[in-house]
Amino acid sequence: MTIDWTTIRQDFPILHQEVHGHPLIYFDNAATSQKPRHVIEALVGYYERDNANVHRGLHELSGRATDAYEESRRKVAQYLGAGEEEIIFTRGTTEGINLVAQSWGRANIKMGDVILVTEMEHHSNLVPWQMLALQTGATLKHVPVTDEGELDLDQLDTLLTEQVKMFAFVHVSNSLGTINPAKELIARAKAVGAVTLLDGAQSAGHMPVNVRDLDCDFYAFSGHKMCAPTGIGALYARGPVLAEMPPWQGGGEMITRVQFESSFYKEGPARFEAGTPDISGAIVLGEAIDYLEALGREHIFQHDSELTAYALERMAEIEGLRIFGPRLNRGSLVAFALEGAHPHDLTTYANSFGLALRGGHHCTQPLMRKLKVPSTTRASFYFYNTREEIDRMIAILQAARTFFAP
Ligand code: PMP
Repeated sequence: MTIDWTTIRQDFPILHQEVHGHPLIYFDNAATSQKPRHVIEALVGYYERDNANVHRGLHELSGRATDAYEESRRKVAQYLGAGEEEIIFTRGTTEGINLVAQSWGRANIKMGDVILVTEMEHHSNLVPWQMLALQTGATLKHVPVTDEGELDLDQLDTLLTEQVKMFAFVHVSNSLGTINPAKELIARAKAVGAVTLLDGAQSAGHMPVNVRDLDCDFYAFSGHKMCAPTGIGALYARGPVLAEMPPWQGGGEMITRVQFESSFYKEGPARFEAGTPDISGAIVLGEAIDYLEALGREHIFQHDSELTAYALERMAEIEGLRIFGPRLNRGSLVAFALEGAHPHDLTTYANSFGLALRGGHHCTQPLMRKLKVPSTTRASFYFYNTREEIDRMIAILQAARTFFAP
């Protein structure tokens, strides 16, 4: 199948505008992706035709909203290769990881246990585990990152002991672009009896993901990084693991019977969806999945990889530009430093030419310390970006080199 990516770009209304007198170049996709018209219209259509609260109502609109909400759960399940009873709707990756830490974690982690993460974790996959370690007396350890920006797998044998009860790591690093060998790491964790969680924020919308094949226990992702709105995401929890997990938040929808003194809880994902969920978000996440599936994640991955390889090749032309992360086997983002230019100044300079980059620590402060930089500048791509946009970024970076020269 040959995809005309330029035509696909027409599906994204936001991309066709000028910023500071220049055509917008949106290279901040790792922070959030843009939304196709199909998804925007589905959101409006839901509020114009079907809006009602789910599950409790016996009227037509509530029935429609409930059917669409549960249909979306099936789509997410299929998208990840899971069962629908294993998909919990969340606000996003952060909430999914906090849910696991507080529900599974408080029930299973005790003093003396080890929670293993890596040095390249986003704060979302670090702070919840720090909180759990404080609550339980467990120890938090991390797998170091090599100078090439990969996990130091030589250290893993020493770190992966039988004390490790949870190994939580990022699938694709948002700061380095590294694609971690998830399947191998999960197998090694399983061998010592550890439960595994994969932070899928940067992989869910970018590559084929099958949780059965990966064999992870948990996989968390955010809809807004894969063409859906903000405020919705999902957590995959392997069936037998989910069945043993106590509730996290209490409230309506997650109970079967409530008395003053105590309550009985529902089984399955409903136990973790207290209160009115983001109904429109969940339904539209299903629409975003349809959209991505029609393109094919393997095609998206290939297109994004070609764009990234091209960006890396062109960026090598720029003197004084240091690129972070591995050369090969990386996701569709490039973090870099330009000699003499603070990432915030460089990002502001780029913005004056309509180029949206991101400058900062990217919520990976421990990694920044390892790299011995306070922050980096990051360009992150998605399937609607083009080589011409990369050429224009290169011209802007070349101009910045002169502009910021001491
Ligand atoms: N993990 C990674 C690797 C991320 O890139 C992000 C988003 N920047 C998150 C977790 C958190 O995602 P969210 O803010 O959507 O919960």
